[in-house]
Amino acid sequence: MQVLLAAHAGFCFGVRRAIQQVEAELAHSGKVATYGPLIHNPQVIARLADQGVAIVDHLDMSTLGPVVIRSHGVGPAIYEQAAQHGVNLIDATCPFVANVQKAARDFTEQGYQVVIAGDADHPEVQGIVAWTGNRAIVVASGKEITGDKIQGKVALIAQTTLKEATFREVEAALRQLDVELIVKNTICSATAKRQEAAQQLVSQVEVMVVVGGRNSSNTRKLAQICVAAGLPTYHVEQAEELDPRWFKNVNQAGVTAGASTPHWIIEEVVQRMTEIQQEQELENNVPTEEAATEAAAPQVSEDANRELTMDDAEDDMGKSFEESLKNLKEGELVTGIVVKVRHDEILVDVGGKSEGVIPLREIAPVTPDSTEGLAKVGDEIKVVVLKAESEDGTLIVSRRRAIEREKIVHMEEAKEKGEILTGKVVAVVKGGLRVDVGLVGFVPASQIERGYVENMEKYIGQTLRMKVVEVDTRRNNVVLSQKAVLEEEHKQARGNTWGDLAEGQTRRGTVRRLTDFGAFVDLGGVDGLLHISEMSWGRIKHPSEVVKEGQELEVYVLKVDREKERVSLGLKQVLPNPWSLAVEKYPVGSVITVKVVRLTQFGAFAELEPGIDGLIHISQLANRRVNKPEDVVSVGQEVQVKVLEVRPEDQRISLSIRAIEEDANREEVTEYLEKQDNQENSEA
Ligand code: SF4
Repeated sequence: MQVLLAAHAGFCFGVRRAIQQVEAELAHSGKVATYGPLIHNPQVIARLADQGVAIVDHLDMSTLGPVVIRSHGVGPAIYEQAAQHGVNLIDATCPFVANVQKAARDFTEQGYQVVIAGDADHPEVQGIVAWTGNRAIVVASGKEITGDKIQGKVALIAQTTLKEATFREVEAALRQLDVELIVKNTICSATAKRQEAAQQLVSQVEVMVVVGGRNSSNTRKLAQICVAAGLPTYHVEQAEELDPRWFKNVNQAGVTAGASTPHWIIEEVVQRMTEIQQEQELENNVPTEEAATEAAAPQVSEDANRELTMDDAEDDMGKSFEESLKNLKEGELVTGIVVKVRHDEILVDVGGKSEGVIPLREIAPVTPDSTEGLAKVGDEIKVVVLKAESEDGTLIVSRRRAIEREKIVHMEEAKEKGEILTGKVVAVVKGGLRVDVGLVGFVPASQIERGYVENMEKYIGQTLRMKVVEVDTRRNNVVLSQKAVLEEEHKQARGNTWGDLAEGQTRRGTVRRLTDFGAFVDLGGVDGLLHISEMSWGRIKHPSEVVKEGQELEVYVLKVDREKERVSLGLKQVLPNPWSLAVEKYPVGSVITVKVVRLTQFGAFAELEPGIDGLIHISQLANRRVNKPEDVVSVGQEVQVKVLEVRPEDQRISLSIRAIEEDANREEVTEYLEKQDNQENSEA
């Protein structure tokens, strides 16, 4: 049995392109979903599912990761939903389907009643209908054409996979009506070529095998063509379904496949048919060495072999597409002209007949949300060829890499010159920050600040000043350091500060760190210690009562030790000294209320005001002998005292409770004596 493969079979341009976009995204981000099953082939869908490609049927806030619009396309509402919920859409709508959508929309806007010849349940047709604001009429055949609904200006278009004969039948029926008719045949040439090739093959074989998903519209149409030719026809999805009985006494069998059938499945089918042929020859006991040798290779037609390796060339790009790709090498920097700007990709004419596709993630160093404002038709731009394999059929180019190549040269110069670059932090990644310096560079966590950084999230959106520390021109990688800039500035400031630092100065500083015993104040590259005892004229328990980290303040330089690089600072020295007014405020002989703050063997200290403590000597605690101060007063107690002496130069005030008691006694005695004198005088 000879196995003949149709000259055009298997993946078309649009399907292959969609699969490539999914695989590219998978390789790029590790996750991707498709809006509906990517193609009508269960084996391919299962294979993609194994790779983690999910299928979603709606878009909302919970939709994670990029979502690929399949080659069938969708209506405008889906783009709106994606934009509304912030879903990153990768539009793999086949360019030919996109053309039909555009034609449908344009005709509707011009007042035409759009008639679509096709299957109303097919997602491609549903998408096209949506672009007409759901006003298009879908008919599956000429029989559905009636004059009651279809009137006036009519535009006829077709589902891309429609049979040519059906389209002509619908057209003929419309011409029977009294309408102004425009006919735009939008059947994809890939579909037509597969159908023509199948038509040609049926005349050469006794049985046909049609390979492809049972839910694939174009595969089913291929099967219908074969059946219509009166040939035994078997529609299979994979090689295991082949039944040897189908090929009993068959000399020539034909194979064709739908546009959503991958070549690996077609090859398996051809291989299995060849095995069946060998088994049958063995059964018939006719194998000769010659026959067995011949049977070992699948006897597919020359055309068919070509089909398996050059499929894209016959697709819509044509042979010139392939030829042009031969001139482009991966990694090559080329100049192109922007020919189309879509929501998520830009098409560029790079000199051949093919158009290079710049996917969204390859448009700029930091992936934008859309192409909006990034390019316009006619712009001349440089791009790097990412994928130019002729058998893949899609030319992928990168503007990002071209920008990075230009920038990487600048990075090397910046490193050489020690230039300071500025860049915004765009992401926190493991071990550091990603910054946009024209290309995306990396700042290791250890190179962000002079000290340890605990929370890197706070840097997102901040602009850093950095030096280039490493450039990898091969990978377009650059490593930067903000710490290098900060260290340099610190060193410079430190030198300046030591140069003019002197005791007795009042300087401005910033509190860097608090401890239990004080605060370290940055005077400009030099840290001085502000001891707790020098913070306030009053009594404090912790430095945080007076200063806080990050606070800017004036400090007094108490001591500078250049050898040990130590600086002692004071804060109270720049504040008003309460002792300067003590003589006026607390005159000798005045009676005031004070609070006992500390007890010692020789008396009790009492606070007159923050910063001024006076001593009540043990001998002044009472008008009697006192063994221990605590026998008379306790800490926190408020007592009345008499000011005995004020010596602001020594910061001393002597106080007395006893003097008050003695004054009281004296007054009592005086009063008594006066009373007695008065009494004696009156008796005399
Ligand atoms: S059949 Fe034609 S229109 Fe449909 S996806 Fe393939 S290339 Fe595009």
